Amino acid sequence: MIRIPKSIFNGMVEHAEKESPFECCGILGGKNHRVEKAFKLQNAEKSPIRYSMAPQDQLKVFEEMEKESIDMIAVYHSHPHTIPFPSETDVKLAFYPEVASIIISLKEEQNPVVKAFRIGKEAICLEEIEVIG
Ligand SMILES: [Zn+2]
Repeated sequence: MIRIPKSIFNGMVEHAEKESPFECCGILGGKNHRVEKAFKLQNAEKSPIRYSMAPQDQLKVFEEMEKESIDMIAVYHSHPHTIPFPSETDVKLAFYPEVASIIISLKEEQNPVVKAFRIGKEAICLEEIEVIG
């Protein structure tokens, strides 16, 4: 279970809509499965079907999270044209199995869908998202 404040949740969807038709990406930090802060990152690939975060951008986020004593809870990215399920590339590039992968699907323009997964070597598990306050 991941708890995400409504403002951060909506911010992720807006980020996805703004970057469309390219995928957006970012990192969510917080404590005890509760998100406190979102870091929007550049998709270094500028691609509609994949994303990558520049190492120097990630480093900056890690430093900021350390300063604020929060942990990395999830990495998010968008699927401008496809369903909210990890693609083959997403599975291959899941660097942090202990961190949830959140996917924002804009497949249905009027109805963005946000889902969280744990991508392990053996299986992909759906993780529940609770939008709070
Ligand atoms: Zn993806």
